[in-house]
Amino acid sequence: GSKIHLDRVGKTYPGSKVPAVEELTLDVPEGEILVLVGPSGCGKSTTLRLINRMIEPSTGRILLDGEDVTRANPDKLRRRIGYVIQQIGLFPHQTIAQNIATVPKMLGWDKTRIQERTTELLTTVGLDPEQFAHRYPRELSGGQAQRVGVARALGADPDIMLMDEPFGAIDPITRDRLQNEFLRLQAELHKTIVFVTHDIDEAIKMGDRIAILGERSMIRQVDTPERILAYPVDD
Ligand code: ADP
Ligand code: ADP
Repeated sequence: GSKIHLDRVGKTYPGSKVPAVEELTLDVPEGEILVLVGPSGCGKSTTLRLINRMIEPSTGRILLDGEDVTRANPDKLRRRIGYVIQQIGLFPHQTIAQNIATVPKMLGWDKTRIQERTTELLTTVGLDPEQFAHRYPRELSGGQAQRVGVARALGADPDIMLMDEPFGAIDPITRDRLQNEFLRLQAELHKTIVFVTHDIDEAIKMGDRIAILGERSMIRQVDTPERILAYPVDD
């Protein structure tokens, strides 16, 4: 079966008349990057927040390895799902090392293990631990901050990563470099990833498969980048 399975998932926010997500069915096989691409407001972020249970679906079911997320224990979900968002994801009054240690701390790891893991993760995302561990988020460039965001999401070695426009607010040259580095990392780590963007070029570069979404997250096409380029939906 798939690592992540959404079965006719719907979400209507309280007080809203229209669903943000309607009847969304998706599968992500283990080790693949599925990109959700679609216009602003079509429900991409909502879909990620449903998968990590920040919000509850109004209808349908979400299964991880066949297990309904509503039955999973919240600590276990936090450990197995890394979440990266655009900018503002870092706690401003904590150092980079403290930011990266968020999930390991919640899980009660001991100090030595946390320190080793923090150093390892900074290195993984291309930041020198000596230089960066004790800095604060405001002392980082946009690209460095997003590297830290990725390191924090990898904290407890999750098998699933949810990435919401992780490189969206970065200048094009740095973005290109971060995309390439992330793909190299993914070739080693084989995480199962749902990656959200509104940029079709980024979708084609990052996705093993791409789901093109319309309003209320209705699927217009799901396919590999090669096939999407060869057979675009036209209207
Ligand atoms: P996207 O990520 O594709 O830009 P979102 O998932 O953020 O889309 O939003 C989908 C729809 O749900 C939009 O109409 C948005 O205004 C609405 N929405 C998002 N978050 C909330 C919320 N917390 N409460 C009410 N409506 C929301
Ligand atoms: P410790 O508290 O472990 O002695 P420091 O605070 O001396 O660590 O800083 C360790 C590293 O973090 C140094 O290499 C330094 O460059 C960097 N650093 C610390 N504070 C800042 C800062 N305000 N701006 C830039 N870099 C900083």
